[in-house]
Amino acid sequence: MADAKPETKPKKTHQERMARKKQVIDERIAKATEERGVLILLKGNGKGKSSSAFGTMARCVGHGQKAAVIQFIKGRTETGEFKLFKDHPQIDWHVMGHGFTWETQDKTQDIAAAEKAWAQAEQLLQDDSLDMLVFDEMAYMFKYRYLELEPVLKALQNRPKNQHVIITGRVMPEGLLEIADTISDIRDERHAFRLGVKAQAGIEF
Ligand code: ATP
Ligand code: MG
Repeated sequence: MADAKPETKPKKTHQERMARKKQVIDERIAKATEERGVLILLKGNGKGKSSSAFGTMARCVGHGQKAAVIQFIKGRTETGEFKLFKDHPQIDWHVMGHGFTWETQDKTQDIAAAEKAWAQAEQLLQDDSLDMLVFDEMAYMFKYRYLELEPVLKALQNRPKNQHVIITGRVMPEGLLEIADTISDIRDERHAFRLGVKAQAGIEF
């Protein structure tokens, strides 16, 4: 007796699969109706946090919106993004840190710089003419306990409704993770530095 052929489902065509995918995506898009400012955290050990933040800021400025940047840690003085954006009429750029912590090795001076930066940040968080704020390397302020988290969370939650905020830094405190809308964890899979490539203009700064 010949074996009965197992019943197989007819294979969906590419067109059918794509139509289904489109339907699912369209349903999701229809559900996302809210328009408001978002808090974005860019964390992790991989390369791409600050450059993503400034890329997003370029996007916002391209649409005619206004943005402000606070650099909580001053690494290199003249990064490409600083040179490009510092005199831009829609961008307000503040370099508040005075250097890397392991270079200054002066905790009192670091705390004073962090507090000054935060005083500036607090003002920006009340200015509804600003569409986007980038707080670059702010996460370190909590890691080293240079800033208290509670007042920062409060100010973020009370900011103008349509203001976007992007915070970068390798390690984010729990409280920020709880209130964020978008979190990207950038993983370090490989980095040219470990292959012996030095920090080059246009790539690293
Ligand atoms: P980028 O500014 O290139 O987007 P980042 O903001 O993600 O990098 P940071 O943690 O701020 O990275 O590091 C500061 C500097 O170290 C930058 O010049 C960055 O390109 C470089 N860097 C980032 N990740 C690594 C890594 N895994 N190994 C070596 N250097 C790195
Ligand atoms: Mg960075």
